Amino acid sequence: MFKKIERIEFLKELVHLINESNKIAVLTHTSADGDALGSCLAMGLAMEYLGKKVSVFIEEPVPKTLDFLPGQHLISENHKEMFELAVCLDTSDLKRLGTRADIYNSAIKKINIDHHTTNTIEADGIWINQKASATGEMVYYLVKALDVPMNRDIAIGLYTAIVTDTGGFRYSNTNQESHLISAELLTYGIPFANIAKKVFDIVSHSKLYLLKKAMQNLTLYYNGKVAVSWLDNKDITPVNAQSDDFEGLVNIGRNLEGVEVSLFLREEQPGHFKGSLRANEYVDVAKISSIFSGGGHKLAAGFSIDGMLDEIIQKVIAEIQKEL
Ligand code: 5GP
Ligand code: MN
Repeated sequence: MFKKIERIEFLKELVHLINESNKIAVLTHTSADGDALGSCLAMGLAMEYLGKKVSVFIEEPVPKTLDFLPGQHLISENHKEMFELAVCLDTSDLKRLGTRADIYNSAIKKINIDHHTTNTIEADGIWINQKASATGEMVYYLVKALDVPMNRDIAIGLYTAIVTDTGGFRYSNTNQESHLISAELLTYGIPFANIAKKVFDIVSHSKLYLLKKAMQNLTLYYNGKVAVSWLDNKDITPVNAQSDDFEGLVNIGRNLEGVEVSLFLREEQPGHFKGSLRANEYVDVAKISSIFSGGGHKLAAGFSIDGMLDEIIQKVIAEIQKEL
């Protein structure tokens, strides 16, 4: 189906690293989303097919919205083991591996596959493609290059990765390949309507509670060009929130007419906030996030920051204002 066979040539180095290793760890960023977890489990299943001993490590439990993903038997506890190879997916800096950074650092060989513009992770085999809509798109090519036959389980992981990172083929990162690859994945009989319902539509009761709070807290700045919303500890503690309950809350501000940049902050631990930034057209929020030691894509990025909520908001919107 694809003319871009040269990409498979280029992948020889990564294929070699995988073929010569037996005990392999697969890692991705904290608060693993559809692309992160879908890519890891698809990659894990492909390497398991090749007879490798694969362990996938994630920071938090599998979110409810992604509990249908096949390959979860590969998810392992971190027992500080050594691995011959660590494959890091969809992760732009080592900080984002959280408590699992030492699994990556202590592995004999390392592979880093990602589509973020801000990737800084060192490895023996590095493949960064900022044009890929999702890391899952890249893993698709690697699965092909490894000569692993596509199957329904791997296809579900890859499709979930692509459909979530493109916001259902709507964001500007969507490209011809996202559609072509997905069209091929559909031939494996994947439950695409159920997947869309799980990842986009169903709202948990805890999420509904948080949505209401986030809407109440929404404030506009700079003639309505910047929307800021937040959830602090007192907003979050009444519900037993999972990481996926916060997914998409930044879009309330982004989708408001006239808004160019939306900032959403949530207090992960007292005094420690996770920031999400989205832009609609021209502001580079990856650049703004990197000022706060974060990163991401031009129109979708994030960072972590310590301090008082009001001061954080003032600091971040001051940087946004420079770009308006
Ligand atoms: P989200 O706002 O959905 O958490 O993340 C948006 C994008 O920015 C994702 O591609 C994500 O990987 C990236 N991102 C979010 N937080 C961070 C961060 O703290 N550091 C870096 N480097 N990237 C981040
Ligand atoms: Mn991604």
